[in-house]
Amino acid sequence: MFDLHKNLAADEDVRLIKPSLPPLEEMLPLLEEIWDSRTLTNGGPMSKRFEAALGQYLGTPHISLVANATLGLVASLFHLKETHGWEDGEVITTPFTFVATANAVKLAGLEPVFADIDPVTLSLDPEAVRRQITPRTRAILGVHAFGQPGDMAVMEGLAEEFGLPLIYDAAHAFGAVIGNRSLASYGDLSILSFHATKVFNTFEGGAIICPDAETKARIDRFCNHGIQSETEMPFIGINAKMSELHAAVGVKALESFGADLQARRGVSLRYGAQLCGVKGIDFVCPVNAKGHNHYAFPIRVREDFRMSRDELHLQFKAEGVCTRRYFHPMLSDLPAFRDHPSANRDLLPNAAEVSGEVLCLPMFPDLPIDHQQRVIEVIRGH
Ligand SMILES: *Cc1c(COP(=O)(O)O)cnc(C)c1O
Repeated sequence: MFDLHKNLAADEDVRLIKPSLPPLEEMLPLLEEIWDSRTLTNGGPMSKRFEAALGQYLGTPHISLVANATLGLVASLFHLKETHGWEDGEVITTPFTFVATANAVKLAGLEPVFADIDPVTLSLDPEAVRRQITPRTRAILGVHAFGQPGDMAVMEGLAEEFGLPLIYDAAHAFGAVIGNRSLASYGDLSILSFHATKVFNTFEGGAIICPDAETKARIDRFCNHGIQSETEMPFIGINAKMSELHAAVGVKALESFGADLQARRGVSLRYGAQLCGVKGIDFVCPVNAKGHNHYAFPIRVREDFRMSRDELHLQFKAEGVCTRRYFHPMLSDLPAFRDHPSANRDLLPNAAEVSGEVLCLPMFPDLPIDHQQRVIEVIRGH
């Protein structure tokens, strides 16, 4: 019977992502604490504990937990609007990102303006950003695509030159470091996602890395309906709080994150060893990159590969392997954004090319070796 089960398992589909979870029995004591306290949300003791643990891990003491990164982005942009007194205006961002990045700009009452990406880092190209700066520009919103840093110093210099806030959608960046400094600590504000599909998850969740206690207090207030005290509600707000349950998952998950990173690195190195030298396949992230979080394993399917990216995607599907064209389509091609002059494809040649070539391969800490081998064989052509 167990042999039969094993054979069936060998035939099952290869997943793209499998979220890590803390052992259930280790969750129980934390759940008991929540049940005893009867504090379920609104920044209770478990949230405080998770914030402190995150602050320690990331080296950033002022952290606001949020229900998800999308609301975190909206809250961050609202915060900037309120503190700078903007009525409206434009935010320069990348078209090579998840749709939430530009949606959040719109939801905050601002206009996303697209600038092209660097063909190697896949982050905003500072020179392309410079070309889009006008008197209506309010901020720059970068994205650390696949947990890779862009040209951080040049972007900082550009933002400083024009007096623009520089914020980061760091949804992919948890665990990535530059030297000893966490990638997520860069920017005037930086927004992490703890969604189930991310490198570190709390089922749903996110965090805003704030520069100081005052900013954190303002953002926390915004995320709790703008309530300052029982009778004072000086500004509008929204409900974007993380619950105590989600925070408890975060507290436990953080304890095993280091082991997860190591395991992801192992998966990455195996892909690297088996796929390097395959004609027409390039790696987006250097396999041995220092400080990388191995959030995903994106490859670029070039013209000299034996089939197109989309054909390879379909072949994977036929063989029961889940892969993802990420990010495709690019945001500047979506109905909500494509009419803006900056969405013209001629202005975004790198993003257009990358979006047509990238395919993310299965990547999670406990990806079974036989599953990974099936992925590799499809690319190598059996
Ligand atoms: C996942 C993701 C988001 C949204 O995160 P949620 O926590 O699901 O709201 C935003 N930006 C990028 C780049 C993402 O990958």
